[in-house]
Amino acid sequence: MSFIVNNKEFGTIEEFVLQGRGCATLQPNHYQIRRNDERIAQVSGRHRRANKLVIAIRFIHITDQQQGHITEEQRVEQINVLNEAYQEHGIEFVYDPATVQVVDNAQWFGMDHGSWQEREAKRILGGNPHQGLNFYTAGLNGGLLGWATFPWELEGDVERDGVVMQCGTLPGGDATNFNFGKTAVHEIGHWLGLWHTFQGGCGAYGDHVGDTPPHAGPNYGKPIPGRLNACDISDEDAPINNYMNYVDDEWMTEFTQGQITRIWAQIDLYRSSLLDSELS
Ligand SMILES: [Zn+2]
Repeated sequence: MSFIVNNKEFGTIEEFVLQGRGCATLQPNHYQIRRNDERIAQVSGRHRRANKLVIAIRFIHITDQQQGHITEEQRVEQINVLNEAYQEHGIEFVYDPATVQVVDNAQWFGMDHGSWQEREAKRILGGNPHQGLNFYTAGLNGGLLGWATFPWELEGDVERDGVVMQCGTLPGGDATNFNFGKTAVHEIGHWLGLWHTFQGGCGAYGDHVGDTPPHAGPNYGKPIPGRLNACDISDEDAPINNYMNYVDDEWMTEFTQGQITRIWAQIDLYRSSLLDSELS
């Protein structure tokens, strides 16, 4: 049975996920990885605030006539899903219905990662990323589910900051297997500085998080626990329920403590203005 995401047909759902779960967030290069690690090491153990942050989400829905509309119920449920994932770690998401934008633009609706449409839409629609998270939804191109900017990119390109989500991935959307709102948890994980758990494959550094077992490549679907594509350098199973893997939404249920520590270091390093705006 074929599988359709935003009018693009895939032979099977496997064919779709093999293209990368449709997450287009860029893989950092070795220079960026080293620079970021050095900076994290500098702040390690001395964060300004002990793990409590409220992040205001600005929903910006790009539509194409009848396509791409998100209901109030979906927004509320998306916030709930984010809080289920992050709140126990001290990060809470809120949103003010008065800030929701709905903009009809067929070209922006079909934006691709790194396209001029992305640039134009973000420049015109985005709010101040030092005071909240710009959460764009659109149709996207080529079966992508979403992408995010990394926190260390904020300083050099303020207008690009935020997450872009395929509109069918919000809770109750039409992206089968990916419509529980977990794509937003995953992309916001990138936005807060996390990499995929399979990043670096079986190389020594992996995702630079000590308690996520290295694995050779993504896990897909709803895998049962086991060695799967785990690496010989670890006796542990692949992290098949981790939000930063590529499994179906239903299977994504956890961050590790190491990931959370890394998130907090990067909030302190790169997104401390969110702490300031909350404090003021
Ligand atoms: Zn990703």
